[in-house]
Parts: sequence; C-alpha cells; structure tokens
Amino acid sequence: MRVRLLALLAGLVVSQPQAAPLLAQQLAARGALTSGDLVIRNVSVVPMVSDTVIRDAAVHVRDGRITFVGPARDLRVPQGARVVDGGGGYLMPGLADMHTHLFSDGDEVPDSAGAAELGVMVANGVTAVRFMIGTPKQLALREAVRSGTVTGPQLWVASPQLTGRASENAIVTTTDAEAREAVRRVKREGYDFVKLTLFLTPPVWESIIHEAAQQRIPVVGHVEPDVGVIRAAAAGQQLEHLDSFLEAALADSAPMKTSLTQGRIFTMRNWPSLDYIDARKVDQLAGAVARSGVYIGPTQNVFNTAFGSGESLDTIQARQDFRHWPPRLREGYLRAHARYWAAANDSLKSPKRRAKYVAVRNQFVKALQDSGGKLIAGSDTPEWFHLYGFGLHRELGAMVRAGLTPYQALVTATRNPADYLGASAHWGTIEPGKRADLVLVNGNPLEDIANTARIRGVAIGGRWLDRATLDEMIARGARATGAPGGAGGAGGASPALSPF
Ligand SMILES: [Zn+2]
Repeated sequence: MRVRLLALLAGLVVSQPQAAPLLAQQLAARGALTSGDLVIRNVSVVPMVSDTVIRDAAVHVRDGRITFVGPARDLRVPQGARVVDGGGGYLMPGLADMHTHLFSDGDEVPDSAGAAELGVMVANGVTAVRFMIGTPKQLALREAVRSGTVTGPQLWVASPQLTGRASENAIVTTTDAEAREAVRRVKREGYDFVKLTLFLTPPVWESIIHEAAQQRIPVVGHVEPDVGVIRAAAAGQQLEHLDSFLEAALADSAPMKTSLTQGRIFTMRNWPSLDYIDARKVDQLAGAVARSGVYIGPTQNVFNTAFGSGESLDTIQARQDFRHWPPRLREGYLRAHARYWAAANDSLKSPKRRAKYVAVRNQFVKALQDSGGKLIAGSDTPEWFHLYGFGLHRELGAMVRAGLTPYQALVTATRNPADYLGASAHWGTIEPGKRADLVLVNGNPLEDIANTARIRGVAIGGRWLDRATLDEMIARGARATGAPGGAGGAGGASPALSPF
C-alpha cells in the first residue's frame, strides 16, 4: 500500500503549525469599522450557523458590528439609524476568496490600480481575500484596508512564490540554505504565509517545512508529485489545486507515474493516465487528507473550465469579466486558449478523457467533504478569463456541481475560511458580535447557489454600499485594468502556462 508507506514516511517530517492559532494573534482587525447605526430590514437572513433561514428578519449594526439578528418585530430602530429596506431579499455573510491575485501584481497594470481592483471584489460581495503570490504592494494594501484609507476586503497576504526556477515575484530556492533564508526573509517582511509553487525538490521542500515550523509561519500552495499529497498533508501544508492527487490515485498497474498536475497538463501524452485512475484510491486518499486536518482549496472552477469542460470564445467574451482584462494579457490568453483547444490535441485529450478529468476532480471534492475534510473556496483569479469576485461565485457553483449542497458550498466561502484564518470570532456567520460584512441578494442561496451573484447591496464593516455604488466600483475597476472599447494590443504577453 503506497499510501500507508507514505504516511509512515510523513511521520518523519516536523509537523507544520496550523494557520489559525498563529494568525489569530495578529488578527486584531484587518478592516476598518464604520461608526453609527445601520438597520437592514425586510429580509430573510442566511446566518450560516446552520442550514436554515430566518424569515421576516432584521439586522442591527452598531459601529461596524452586528448587535441584533432576529424577527423584525423584536427590533426597535434607533433614532438616526440608516435603514435599508432589503426588499424581501436574502442577507448572507460576506464571502471569502482564499486564492486570488491582482492584475497589478505584474507589469501590465500599474500598482496604483490595486485599490480599484479591491473595489471590484467588494462589489461582488467578497469581503475577505487571501493573495497567493505576495508583493510589497499587497502588504501596503493590507495596511490601507486595515486603516480604512482603501475600501477593500480584509487581506491576508502569502509570500512571493518559493519556486525552483526563476519566475515573476519569485524567490528561487534550490538548496537547504536558500530555502531557510527564504522562509526567514518572508517572515521578516511581514507575509502571512509561505507560498510554494513549482519545481521544488523534496529535500528543499523539507527544509522549507522545517524552517517554517521554527519561524512559526504556515506553508501553503502547490504540491510536487515527488513530495506527494500525503506527505504534504501530514506536514500540515495547506493544499491548493488538488495538485498531485491524480498521481496518487493511479492504479498500481498503471504503466505511467505521471499525470496532469501543474504544467504536466499541457503535455498531451500525460492525458491517457486518466484511464488508470483507481476510484478506491480516490476515496482512500480523500479520507487520509481529511483526517490530517489540513484545509484544501481545490480551485475547482478554473481548472475544470480551463482544461476539462472548456468554454467557447463566445461564452468567454460575453461575460462582464472580459472587459477588465488588460489587452496584452487577454491576447496572450486567447492564443493559449486556441493552442490548448486545437483539434489536433483531441486524440490524446479526447472528450471522454476531459470529462473524466472533471469527474475525478469532482469525486475528490465530494469525498473530501463527505470524509469531514475542510474545503476552502478559491477562484485563482484573475486567471484564464475569470476575474476576481465573478470567479468566486463560479467556484461556489463548481462546488455544487461536485456534489456539495448549496449550504456546504457556502460554508467553503464563509465559515471555513474564517476558521482557517483564526478569525471565526470576527466573521464568517451573521451573529451578534461579528463584523457587519454582509451581502444582500435577490434569492435564497441555499436553494440555488447561483443566487449568491444576484447582489443588491453589500455592507463592509458596517458601511452600506447600494447597487449603484457597486456598479460604479466595477466600472472603475474596468477602467483601471481593461481596454476602452476592448481592442487588443499588438504583440501580447504570454501568460505563464503553469497552472496557476
Ligand atoms: Zn494562483
């Protein structure tokens, strides 16, 4: 049993500190609170404490925190309160996106666009965000949101990527000494996590894990097949993208050991590996990962749509997201889309295998959920034509397509991220004492998860933003990053094709 052997080996690795207790210490406040009284009435409240709705309800907020949730008749509206008529809508907690980037992280868009980009997230109901490849500018934005000079989601910022090869916003780590210095450096510079991406050898990975345990900083991100899911989970690494899950689920009789993790997905001869997935191994692996207690961010929507189910150019171009893309980046992705979906690839990357890719990823997510695994929603935007905020709603839809109930899906973007970040005393549900990070939507999200995107208004730290204000924030974001008229530029940057 390969899995059991790996579990034994994993016991040799120093266990990683979990994020929650570490981050709770520095939590105090990551977002400003607005003073005064806010009352939202004529709503049904989706508190996310359990799979229920409070009908004919009202919520009272004072100085940015919830003081009352319950039947409207039990609330006496304070004089001078701002009263919002919910119009019979549903009020749910603000959403957390646990895997995002910004256009302004790269050279295509200036740093100054960052604040407008955060506004697009808020306008989509996203009130907590984890940046997954950190930059000094993101650290500055974290402080600006904390102090209230920028309206944005509360921010957690992972380090620049630790990687085995030179890349953008990277710290190259190929030796024990480099690995340990990289961890000490990102801790010193104030990042919340150590972020791993690609090409890290098992010995370097072990050095990172050991040093991070000493420095008391959590490790998050990609997993190399040579390291393996079980070993990474046993070390307490937070797992992204379901990296290396496919490799670990190959049947013992499979003629190959390589599957579709990371950039291997672009090598067409790796696609036949899907014919050798052992369904029992999928369930066993999911159970083992769930028991390890680590949090898992599958980033399901972006991987399934980019590589499995596919999306036509008409679909992509019709979406509101499309006009936010910087022209050169957009052209680069359009070329990558054309290359990847060229008919010539169909013999190995057949429709049947692509369907299997989605089905196996979905089986992992469902089995993780059913085994008590802790899933967190991450959009991995902006990536492959999906934009932050918009992409998170699609991620929730992908969770439901994988077999989660709408309630379970919504937990992955509310309570689970708050628990993971040690912030559940402050947000993640609608209860007295919590921050008033609230989203008013036009239908019950527990009946149809698509309703999370039908947003009428957002409260952030008790500040109410109506639909007209949200629309202006989205328009400002498009002006900051996109092309007026949507014309593509000449040349075009090539997106780094290393998912993601
Ligand atoms: Zn990412």
